[in-house]
Amino acid sequence: MESLAAALASGDAAAAAAALAGLPADAATTAEHGAALLAADGALPALVSALGSGNTAAAAAASRCLRAAALGAPLAERIAGAGGALPALARRFGGGDAAAGDALRAVAAAGHGACVAAAAAELLAPAGGAGAGAADEGAAGRARALLLAEPLSLPEVAVDALARCAATTSRLRARVQALEALLAAAAAEAAARPEACAAGACRKSGADVRLKPCAGCQGGPAGRILYCSPQCQRADWQRHKPYCRAAAAAAVGGAPAP
Ligand SMILES: [Zn+2]
Ligand SMILES: [Zn+2]
Repeated sequence: MESLAAALASGDAAAAAAALAGLPADAATTAEHGAALLAADGALPALVSALGSGNTAAAAAASRCLRAAALGAPLAERIAGAGGALPALARRFGGGDAAAGDALRAVAAAGHGACVAAAAAELLAPAGGAGAGAADEGAAGRARALLLAEPLSLPEVAVDALARCAATTSRLRARVQALEALLAAAAAEAAARPEACAAGACRKSGADVRLKPCAGCQGGPAGRILYCSPQCQRADWQRHKPYCRAAAAAAVGGAPAP
């Protein structure tokens, strides 16, 4: 335990994973051990990253450590507040890790039911992708059981509503990914076409023409919009304005100015 605590606190993910993987499955896991493990600053992030790592032994040991830690309510608080801890525990639980389920229940019992329910609700939606079917169904079934049972004890209608929300979110996520791919492809297309003045009446191009990009929408999905002169840019402004404003707003994550 001493060396494990030191490895977790070191901030070295590989050392932490190796130490976790070497932990015997029956290692004593009491609230005191959990407290000792989580005492150092880097320990909780190291456990969370081990949870999500491909190292199965390390991930399983990490969820056992978090289960032990969550036996103490102040530590459950820290686990609930740590970025990524609950989603990582929920994914482990969805995959059939009972210790992760115990840790989630302990965190929920410590007054963080809403956060735990939100993390578990993610599992209710199919993730999609080839070969995901059976594993998804198992995870969804476990999540349902967790939400319905103590200490969360959600009513059946609430779990059904969460499942519908999760399904909608997962469809939207897929749609956003498709749109992002389309935008990237559009930018590549726009960058590949021959460069010419964007003003409809002009379209000048060639080595002797000095084209300058519109400063408003540089880096937008259509690539650089070029003009041979300020006159051409002014002449084209009414046509170009809606795109230019939308591209500038999208770059800072807001809505286009009216
Ligand atoms: Zn021009
Ligand atoms: Zn522009």
